[in-house]
Amino acid sequence: MLNCRNIYKSYDNNSVLSDVSIELDDGTITALIGPNGAGKSTLLRILACLEPPNSGTLTIGDKQANYPLDMWFRNLQPWPKVTAVFQQLFLWPHLTLRKNILLPLELKKNSSANDIVNEIIEQFDMASFIDRYPNEVSGGQKQRVALARALALKPDYLLLDEITSALDVEQAAEIVKHLNNLKNDGMTILLITHYLGFVRRMADKVIFLENGCIRESGNFEILNNPQTPALISFMNAFSELEALQNNI
Ligand code: ADP
Repeated sequence: MLNCRNIYKSYDNNSVLSDVSIELDDGTITALIGPNGAGKSTLLRILACLEPPNSGTLTIGDKQANYPLDMWFRNLQPWPKVTAVFQQLFLWPHLTLRKNILLPLELKKNSSANDIVNEIIEQFDMASFIDRYPNEVSGGQKQRVALARALALKPDYLLLDEITSALDVEQAAEIVKHLNNLKNDGMTILLITHYLGFVRRMADKVIFLENGCIRESGNFEILNNPQTPALISFMNAFSELEALQNNI
């Protein structure tokens, strides 16, 4: 189980998250949605222990951290049990894509690193471009590699920040298929996305964040029957955008 309780976060006295508590149940997909600036990425970075909240509690499996942390307990260091993939991907530009996937495994002195990478190359159908450098492939291919690199570490918890944004519809559908398979294998996934179609198709739980607060959460039905003014207005904006796209 991965959860956070009563998380507060501010930057320079600007409150970004206010009393946020969420729970990711094992073997489920949770979608985190909300307008730009709502605090979604900040929350994801906190869950991945890449940034500390001002206060609150974070529990990852059997480990717990209460913030602000005691001096001796600087960090949970949950990697690679918890692994995050960001929109920016952060691939090393001077390494081939194969080496990008291999390096974290080599650093962990994983003796079956090459076997794991070969298996994942096949699984993600990357053989035709895996020996190129990041600047020699498409955005969608880079996205697949970044996801594959995270999965090679066999995390229990996978946190994804808008990773489908550079993909076309078919590539994104392929990623959705992978994510569903991973969930069926028991992985716990948190996904920030603007594609509400995917949320409807794959999320066990939907959390709607606005202005640093959770306004609604539940299964995808909350999108069909929003209760709060914030989610009603978010869904209206989404419907208008969809109508606009259909008319182009
Ligand atoms: P979202 O992912 O929902 O778009 P973010 O978590 O990226 O929202 O940002 C929430 C708010 O926090 C925004 O107002 C953003 O400008 C601010 N913010 C995020 N990161 C920082 C930072 N490192 N320093 C200062 N402000 C930040």
